[in-house]
Parts: sequence; C-alpha cells; structure tokens
Amino acid sequence: MRAYYYTFGCKVNQYETENIRERLESFGYETSADHKAAEVCIVNSCTVTSEADKKCRQLIHKIRSENPSCILVCAGCMTQAHRDIAQRLPECDIIAGSHNKTRIPELIETFLNTGERVVAITDNDAERLIEPMTNYSADDKTRAYIKIQDGCDMHCSYCIIPNARGHIRSKPLGDIISEAKALIDAGHKEIILTGINLCCYGREGSGKQRLTDVIEALDSVDADFRIRLSSLEPELITDTDIERWAACAKLCPHFHLSLQSGCNEVLRAMRRRYTTDEYSALCEKLRQTFTCCAVTTDIMVGFPAETEEQHLQSLKFAEQIAFAEAHIFPYSRRPDTAADKLPCQTDGRTKHRRAAEMKEVCLRSRRGFLGSLVGTVQRVLFEKETSPEYHQGFADNYAPVRIARITDGSLRRHFGRVLIESSDGEWCYGSLIGQDIN
Ligand code: SF4
Repeated sequence: MRAYYYTFGCKVNQYETENIRERLESFGYETSADHKAAEVCIVNSCTVTSEADKKCRQLIHKIRSENPSCILVCAGCMTQAHRDIAQRLPECDIIAGSHNKTRIPELIETFLNTGERVVAITDNDAERLIEPMTNYSADDKTRAYIKIQDGCDMHCSYCIIPNARGHIRSKPLGDIISEAKALIDAGHKEIILTGINLCCYGREGSGKQRLTDVIEALDSVDADFRIRLSSLEPELITDTDIERWAACAKLCPHFHLSLQSGCNEVLRAMRRRYTTDEYSALCEKLRQTFTCCAVTTDIMVGFPAETEEQHLQSLKFAEQIAFAEAHIFPYSRRPDTAADKLPCQTDGRTKHRRAAEMKEVCLRSRRGFLGSLVGTVQRVLFEKETSPEYHQGFADNYAPVRIARITDGSLRRHFGRVLIESSDGEWCYGSLIGQDIN
C-alpha cells in the first residue's frame, strides 16, 4: 500500500511523522508524494493556534473530496487536545491521539478488518514512554532532528500544549546517542536536539540526567558534526549549564530563548516564570561566553488585557535585547486554557497591528546582527547550490551565508571557514578561506 503524509506544526511533529513513516515502511508501505495516489493518507495535526486547527480541517476535507476511497487518518495534537474531536472530523476513518501515533499500523489493520471507524485517544495521565527511532533513510538533508523529550507540566496560561502532549518524559541517554550515531553514519552533519520543553529533559521521576548531560555525551561522540538546540525555557538555564556548554566544542552558539513578552505584568499573567531582568541577564551571560552568539526568540502580542503601554514596553525590551531572529505570533484563544477565560480579549485588528510593529523592531535587529558579522570568520555547513551563483548554508550561529560558486560540483554536507564580507540584511556574503573543507 502507498501512504501519503502531511505534517502541520513544529519540528517535534515532523520528527514524529518520520517515526510513523518508519513504522509503516517496516510493514511494507511505500511513500506517496501525492494524496490522490495513496491508499492511506495521514495528517499529523497541530493545535497551537485556532488557525492551525482550521488548516488541518481544510486539508482533511480536501483529501477526502479528492480521494474518496482512501483510509484517512488524523493524528496528533489536535486530536488529543479537543474532547469532541471525533464528531468534528467525520471524514476521518481513524483518529489517533498523541499517545497513539506509534500504533497507526495496528489501527489501520483494525479498520481494514472491521470496516468500523477507529478512535484511539488515551488520556494524558498514564505513564508514557517516548518512542525510539532506529531506521534512517539516507535522504539529502544536512541537518537531522532527535526528539529527546515530550510533554510539558508548566501550564503557561495561554498554552494548550500540556493538554495535547501530556506530562514530561525523556528519551534514555543511550537511545539518544544510538540515534545520533546512526544519523551521523547516514551522513548528517548537524544534530538538532528537540522536544516540547527541552529544558525539562530528565526532570520527571527520579532521573538525574539533564539536558546538559545529553549535550556533553553527544559532544564526546568522535565524529565531524555539530549540535544545535531548539527552543529553551529561560528560567531553567543556570550559570553552571552555560559554563558546561562552553566546554562543548560541537555546540552551536545559537540559543532560542522563548520570551513571549517583554513586559513583566504580561509575563505574570502568562504564568511565565522569569522577569525581563532575569531574561536580559541570561542573554548577557550567553553573549559574554559565546563568540558571535545568536539569541533568537518567540514573542506573542495581544495577550488578553495587554495595554498599549505594556505593548510599548515589550517593543522596547525586544529592541534592547536585539534578537538575531524572532518569530512573532498574535495571541490565539485556545479552549481549556486559563487565558481563554480572561476578560478583555484583544481585538484582531489591534493584535495584527502590534504584530507588525514587533516584526519591524525584530527585523531591524536581525539586519543589525547579520551586519555585525561582517569582518568575522564563520564556520559554515553548506546545504545547497543556487545555480549558477552561490554555494549556501548556515553558520554555527545560524546566520545564512552565501559564497560565490567555486566548483561546478556541490559543497553540500561540507564545512568551510568563510570570511564574511558583506550583508544585505537577509544573507551574509563572503569568501571561503583556509582548508576546512573536508
Ligand atoms: S513551557 Fe509554557 S508555553 Fe512552553 S509548552 Fe509548556 S505550557 Fe506551553
């Protein structure tokens, strides 16, 4: 049988789609790039915003209308977070909650045997394990993700993720290292550690290992690759962590510290656990420790009752931190969250205006960051060629870099040292120097 896969949402979801694919391939399924030609269509959903829900439902409707006879599966966060989901997705044959994604081959089997719709949603309270991945198809990607953690127990007031993902759980260190070695053997040169709340790695039960132990263990793997961290929660990073990270030569100087708001009153209403002073001190420490360090972030605008004055404070704080990159989101109401029940929801026009203002501030600081690299030497992992002019890739600090083509062949999956000579605010341009091409 042929299976079509579509993933909404974050890198963790993308990783999990690969996990579903790996499992179905072990049962003899082939991958179809076209939903109309597939016998099974799997939509791995996201529910982080109401817009994400809408897009999932639209795709499900499109697949069903264009391929009426396929087995249509909706899996993931949207199916787990909303109790009435089975009624809301009548076009789906199989609905698999977050904890049942790995059972999809078995659920398809049940559907084929019974002809009855299958709804497999189990609650978030039961003890869960995190799924291993073992089999890597050699694709052409330079970067590969390892999901090391799932779930979140923080319950920030706007966030539906704890409902969709359940309690924190972590992948055993030995499994992470095995996965990393398999990815490196398959040719990947960058390993990105990812999770729903990465800094919570190992904090469940009586486990003693933490994220920094994972980074150190990975750093000691004897191979030519680099390590990048996905989003981090600022309050869980200590000075000791930063000192230990600094001793890990493979760790990229790129830290995505989720900010959400640059106003302390709004942070409190969001139930975030740090102040702007603490956040600022953390950025300072990272920048003092790591050369050409990039601090990137997520910022939400238009939280319920956010005043114009608070928004201006947030803008000013973002300007002061000068992020290398920022993802800006208008607040989106999610059912069953504390913020959904707050009075004084911000209207759509105000949210979009504030998002545009925040984007403008963060775009300026991005241009400033890229410009600040002119005259420095950056290690770049090349990813592809843009024909005919450039080899392009990303520096350790995730700055996008281009050099003029020096060969008709490819530098893909090679590291090079590049002297940055200019920036147009979107790319850094430079020349290859030294002999670090391996
Ligand atoms: S830390 Fe807060 S924002 Fe992040 S996943 Fe957990 S509840 Fe959501």
